[in-house]
Amino acid sequence: MVAETKYYDILGVAPTASETELKKAYRKLALKYHPDKNPAAGDKFKEISHAYEILSDSEKRDAYDHYGEEGLSGQGGHGHGMNAEDLFSQLFGGGGGGMFGGGGGRRGPSGPRRGKDMMHQLKVSLEDFYLGKTSKLALQKNVLCVKCDGKGGKEGAVQMCRGCNGQGARIMMRQMGPMVQQFQQTCPDCNGLGEIINEKDRCKHCLGKKIMSDRKILEVHIERGMRGGQKITFSGEGDQAPGIIPGDIIIQLDEKPHPRFTRQGDDLIYEAKIDLLTALAGGQFAVPHLDDRVLMVTVIPGEAIQPNMVKVVPNEGMRMQRVDSHGHLFIKFTVEFPQANWTDENTLKKLESILPSRAPIPSFGNKHLEDVVLANAEGYQNRGGASSSAYDEDEEDHQQGGPGVQCAQQ
Ligand SMILES: [Zn+2]
Ligand SMILES: [Zn+2]
Repeated sequence: MVAETKYYDILGVAPTASETELKKAYRKLALKYHPDKNPAAGDKFKEISHAYEILSDSEKRDAYDHYGEEGLSGQGGHGHGMNAEDLFSQLFGGGGGGMFGGGGGRRGPSGPRRGKDMMHQLKVSLEDFYLGKTSKLALQKNVLCVKCDGKGGKEGAVQMCRGCNGQGARIMMRQMGPMVQQFQQTCPDCNGLGEIINEKDRCKHCLGKKIMSDRKILEVHIERGMRGGQKITFSGEGDQAPGIIPGDIIIQLDEKPHPRFTRQGDDLIYEAKIDLLTALAGGQFAVPHLDDRVLMVTVIPGEAIQPNMVKVVPNEGMRMQRVDSHGHLFIKFTVEFPQANWTDENTLKKLESILPSRAPIPSFGNKHLEDVVLANAEGYQNRGGASSSAYDEDEEDHQQGGPGVQCAQQ
């Protein structure tokens, strides 16, 4: 039994937690609530750090377990003995400047630098957006060496380089006539690392590099209704390095083009090709959906579907994210007309009694009416080519695509 559990609760561990468990819990929470990453969290980071500071010290932990917070008075229990940032960088192998500590990047007033975010693209099919899916993504990343905890060697083996004061570089002066030229030179003592590890104390696992490459499998949960461009963030999963807070891994979803559907927000657009008979007299056509259903769409007899007409099947679009609702399925029609000479004269005659009658030709007064016959346009359009021709004279029409030109492109 312990007198109080507050500090354990803050770290989310049981009072029986081992040192390693405490450290793990602290590391996780500190990454999450570090003010560089989570400025809105307020004093949470300090609270976590304070709890860890007490519990990671066996004497203080003992006092706390027996007497609660009161047992800590006089031990710096209330006074936030250690700076939260110092504790943090201590745990993350920082301090001593050097390769990662100095310069560059974002750096708080005294806090460690935050590592770069890593972006990855993930191609997602429309089916997977519709149904939702968990994708596994394997990637390489740097992690702190587990053997030396990112220190590069035994405790105390890593020494700040005296030649450069841990800066990794030295400012040199050179007299150039009347002027003194200043230039920077990589420190030869430490090869720019800012620190020196005794050969024999160097970690054998990472050879003193402090970091190792590791294969990481991320489970990317694609919620149904998500869309291309959306990002899924894995907080603190970026490259680890001594003394920095790892950045995030950000997965950007990218929608693969679909052979049947075009997506527009939560709606789907489908181009349906139907024959003239279905368009005029009704019938059915099939739309295989993104799940295992096939929608059998009925054209009501007499509805007279026209080319390029757009109709809708309500609520058969995409599923919406986190709402039990759907977008709509818009259907854009192409009507396939029969081929040339598709039937005999008798049938055509019958059509005259079936279809609406021909539009009357307006009167042109006393203009001269002359009979002409249509020919196939092929073979006529390219006449003239680049040389002067009727098309060139009428360039504006040409660009907009007059009737003849449009035909040629189809
Ligand atoms: Zn190591
Ligand atoms: Zn040096």
